[in-house]
Amino acid sequence: MTSIVRKGRAVVLEGPNALKLHDLSVSRPEPDAVLARVEFGGVCGSDVHMTRGEFPLPHAIVLGHEGVGVIEELGSNVVADYAGVPVSPGDRIYWCPIAPCHHCWYCTVEKDFSSCTNATWFGPIEKPTWGSYADYVTLPSDAAFFRIPDDTPSEAVIAFGCALPAVLQGLERAGGVKPLQSVVVQGCGPIGLSAILIARLSGAQSIIAIDGSGLRLDFARRFGATATLDISQTTPQERRQAVRELTANRGADMVIEGTGHHTAFGEGLGLCARNGTYLLIGLWASQGEQPFDPSFVVQNNLRIVGTQYAQAHHYHDAMRIAALHHATFPFAELITHRCMLDEAQHALDLVSSGAAGKVVMCPC
Ligand SMILES: [Zn+2]
Ligand SMILES: [Zn+2]
Repeated sequence: MTSIVRKGRAVVLEGPNALKLHDLSVSRPEPDAVLARVEFGGVCGSDVHMTRGEFPLPHAIVLGHEGVGVIEELGSNVVADYAGVPVSPGDRIYWCPIAPCHHCWYCTVEKDFSSCTNATWFGPIEKPTWGSYADYVTLPSDAAFFRIPDDTPSEAVIAFGCALPAVLQGLERAGGVKPLQSVVVQGCGPIGLSAILIARLSGAQSIIAIDGSGLRLDFARRFGATATLDISQTTPQERRQAVRELTANRGADMVIEGTGHHTAFGEGLGLCARNGTYLLIGLWASQGEQPFDPSFVVQNNLRIVGTQYAQAHHYHDAMRIAALHHATFPFAELITHRCMLDEAQHALDLVSSGAAGKVVMCPC
């Protein structure tokens, strides 16, 4: 039997471009659920697209799918996180926003939980939800969460939001970056910077970052890029020539797209080396057609790999990477803007400007 024990605020997306701060009642968690106080809610490019109405939603939702928080109350059956680490109220956690059904083809046969056909994302606001632009979230039994180690700052974990898990899944699908390979990363927002970091940790020899923001290109170098190309100061032809010169005239073994602009597709494909792979992650939200010559793919033995979302183990690994490397790389510094709940639209505008590092909501 649940009862209302707390009052909280939440940023509700009532319809296209209709954000409103609501007062919501917060119930005690069901036996398999967890109630957490939100410390940071990550603001993501996909939140911008949802708010604009580019993805129809069946009902009003509490916005926000990225979060870290402090356990307020555990359901009576919950004693450990999803990696078996004991948890108690007061512990900090990081969660995966997709709760798979464990009963569909993708969950059972393919074990690809991010492709679950019955996954729960955002429930109606009349019930407990885990939208993270809020004071509190209630994680249901199938939403994996992980205890953040005591010596790891929350900022280091939320810095890459859902981007680092998405990159880990993408690289898993694409076969990974191998030592001494060359990598081009298009776009240096959270996805691109995550890709640069993983390429660096994987032993890539050259990591060439492309973006138009000086701030982001500076972060790219600090996360491991060996060369940067500013799109505001170069033409596509000049960038292609530069990539050739930096890769012994071969092109990149892997090109990773993290721009969110489908117009980047043609350029990225042309930067691949023979036998190379083009991994598309950021284009999730950018629909539109782009002409290309399929014979170029055939004649160069290219692989084009798409990926969306991420699974519980990618969230777990992303947290471990933050725990291991936050002292070496500027994870926490990536957070350039902190916004209150009544500044949600401003936070989304900052993300869509393309000039911010990571934007987070701070409910407290
Ligand atoms: Zn499923
Ligand atoms: Zn996200």
